[in-house]
Amino acid sequence: IARRQRHPHQRYIEGQDERHLRQLMLIRDLQEAVSNAELWMAYQPKVDTRTGLVCQFEALMRWRHPSLGFVPPDEFIELAERSGSIRMLSRWMLTHVCEQLHAWQQRGYRVSVAVNLSASDVTDRQLVTYLSGLLERYQLTPDQLSLEVTESAVMQDIDLAKATLLELNQLGLRISIDDYGTGHSSLAQMKRLPVDELKIDKSFVLAIDSQHDDATIVRSTIDMGHSLGLTLVAEGVENYASAALLSKLGCDYLQGYWIAKPMPSEAVPAWLDSFSPL
Ligand code: C2E
Ligand code: CA
Ligand code: CA
Ligand code: CA
Repeated sequence: IARRQRHPHQRYIEGQDERHLRQLMLIRDLQEAVSNAELWMAYQPKVDTRTGLVCQFEALMRWRHPSLGFVPPDEFIELAERSGSIRMLSRWMLTHVCEQLHAWQQRGYRVSVAVNLSASDVTDRQLVTYLSGLLERYQLTPDQLSLEVTESAVMQDIDLAKATLLELNQLGLRISIDDYGTGHSSLAQMKRLPVDELKIDKSFVLAIDSQHDDATIVRSTIDMGHSLGLTLVAEGVENYASAALLSKLGCDYLQGYWIAKPMPSEAVPAWLDSFSPL
């Protein structure tokens, strides 16, 4: 047993535990993925239900591993969080996104992007300086960047997270609570944070056109959020019926496959050119 504890990798290899072997490979190779240019960002639009126009894109990370192929972000982000490489990854992502915003701007496309942050990002007290440096370097205004953070990420260290988010918010960045409704915190708790937006989790949205209970939950979330002055976003809008219902319920922004799937950055300008208002 003592030997095993000292050589955990060995144990998994001998045990032919493929899942763990894969995780170890991913953790190891994530370090080099950035320098080997195996990572890129996909962009998925959000549409304003009031104007029918695109209001923002969400940046989603992608990784094609040289031998394992496409690795889902849910899988490698969690591993990066556990192995301590998430801050490095987030900084690469933030730089990359700001550089992209600048490039689009040079071509006449003034775009706003939302990025996803992890628990260790919101407790990173250097993040504010890092981000304000990026905005300056790429000549961006704070309204061009907003931050999506989950309840669970914030709750890991609420006081520290609150301090960071407050500074980011004062810098002018909008803060959005991602996957809203899946955590255990109340809206009252969320309101103690500098929150501008709630993003209703797709588990409540995917079947909203057929599940009466889901529609009821979403309706009350929208009404409650609005009464607290928050913007409401629905993710996972997969068909016209859901989009129409969400608009009727007063949801401010919609995001989902029905509007567009996440696309590579090169596809964004042409997609924007061909988009006709909802
Ligand atoms: P998320 O932030 O909740 O992102 C939404 C996920 O739902 C994305 O999956 C998106 O592709 C997917 N989605 C969008 N519209 C629809 C739809 O209509 N139907 C369905 N079924 N799915 C839809 P993706 O890209 O695989 O990302 C998964 C998760 O990985 C994200 O969830 C986020 O938690 C994490 N992630 C992705 N990129 C980053 C990143 O740069 N940093 C951090 N910290 N996390 C990231
Ligand atoms: Ca998100
Ligand atoms: Ca989400
Ligand atoms: Ca999620």
